[in-house]
Amino acid sequence: VLRTGEEYVNAIKHRNKVEIYVMGNEVNDVTEHPFLKPSILAFKATYDAAYEEDSKHLARAWSVFVNDEVNRFTHIHRSPEDLAYKIKLLRKLSHKTGACFQRCVGWDALNTLYVTTKLIAEKGKKDYYERFIEYLKYVQKNDIALAGAMTDVKGVRTLKPHEQPHAYLRVTEVTKDGIYVSGAKANITGIAAAEEVIVMPTRAMSEKDQEFAVAFSTPLDTEGIKVIVGRQINDGRRMENGEIDGLPYRSNHEGLIVFDNVFIPMERVFMLKDWQMSGILVEIFSAYHRQGYGGCKSGLGDVIIGAAYNLAKQIGVEKAPHIQNKLTEMVLLNENMYGTGMAASLDAIKLCEDGCWWVNPMFANITKQLVTRFPYEITKLSTDIAGGIIGTAPSEWDLKNPKLRQLIEKYLQGIMDYSTEERLRIVRLLENVSFSVAFLIESVHGAGSPEAQRIVINRIYDYDYAEKIAKYLANIEKSINFKENAEPWKKTDTEKIGKQ
Ligand code: SF4
Ligand code: FE
Repeated sequence: VLRTGEEYVNAIKHRNKVEIYVMGNEVNDVTEHPFLKPSILAFKATYDAAYEEDSKHLARAWSVFVNDEVNRFTHIHRSPEDLAYKIKLLRKLSHKTGACFQRCVGWDALNTLYVTTKLIAEKGKKDYYERFIEYLKYVQKNDIALAGAMTDVKGVRTLKPHEQPHAYLRVTEVTKDGIYVSGAKANITGIAAAEEVIVMPTRAMSEKDQEFAVAFSTPLDTEGIKVIVGRQINDGRRMENGEIDGLPYRSNHEGLIVFDNVFIPMERVFMLKDWQMSGILVEIFSAYHRQGYGGCKSGLGDVIIGAAYNLAKQIGVEKAPHIQNKLTEMVLLNENMYGTGMAASLDAIKLCEDGCWWVNPMFANITKQLVTRFPYEITKLSTDIAGGIIGTAPSEWDLKNPKLRQLIEKYLQGIMDYSTEERLRIVRLLENVSFSVAFLIESVHGAGSPEAQRIVINRIYDYDYAEKIAKYLANIEKSINFKENAEPWKKTDTEKIGKQ
């Protein structure tokens, strides 16, 4: 049930052929390919964590579905504490990898389908839930590496799916055994390092768009699937065979996955044309994923703070008041992301009787909104502390050239306790983590672009109630009906359905 990291790598290495392309060429073995190996190593860390003394209490959970211990990345949250463990686990895994370890989207997809199929079952349609539970058991028993695919390519943003069918993944045919789907999903994290992908709709659908309201899972080696892996900042360093410039040599990737008339057997279909539910599904998923960023991004923040602190010490400025101020500011920003992620967890919401613990949607959206901003601030502050060397340092190949090494060591030396090589190593680590896709671009667009969170925040804050409080205290209104809760929030559509 609990795979080791090595077992995961072997499973990926020996799977059936999957059509994966990197920089124009088809990849034979993703576990050995220099561009993808860093991703495999980061993914692997989610398996190793279940066996490492410092993390196994976070990385293991008890599943009531298979009556056994499972890797938490396949676990269905059973309590607010479970959701808090998620945040702690993600922060710790960022420390172990210095990268995005890519397994959370599939995990959030499992929890989303659990809640959504359950809500649909409570309305009378039980097949999806029953199928999903069977699938969940299979995933938990085999500790499957999952990716999650939500974002459609979307084409012209003002056009609806049925007005531009190729821009959204759709069902093209339904038979008694299954369905056929065509289309593409974009920006899919870790897709080439996963064994299966869970596909979900990307937005609320109208009746006219019902063939786009589809959720299912499929192994990556299914006929008709192609993956085109995208490029990232500094990604060429992965191919250089070095040991400094590409640090931490663990990374993530995103890719475009194309479905060309792919057959999905009915037992893997978890939503089929239920257009009324697709908005709810998206809301549930996005809140789960927005909460998670409080863990992984604060974990990367720790790596950056540690590197900046070390570089300050290397040049003897760590006690300067303005440096201490900047370090304090980085900690403040970082712990804010973590704190809101924890609040989203511990103030969780129960959407159905036997469990279905959903994150607090206000705090989850606040977490992600902070994450669209604070990593940029943290990167700016760490660049400030590191000095210009972060953009101009000589390469490891210069350091390895005996003619140059002496000069580099002489002229880039700071406090004598630290070697110049040490300085360059930390500089490279800082550069590659603080300017990474995972820390910057994904922080803006992952789990929905900034405006998506602002819409939710604005919708669920009850301005009218806050206004009533103000009027009451100003003696304009003589009385007020205080709500039971202290927070002036409205229920989301999801909560309304959950409580019906
Ligand atoms: Fe997990 Fe964070 Fe990567 Fe998303 S960005 S997959 S939450 S590590
Ligand atoms: Fe993400």
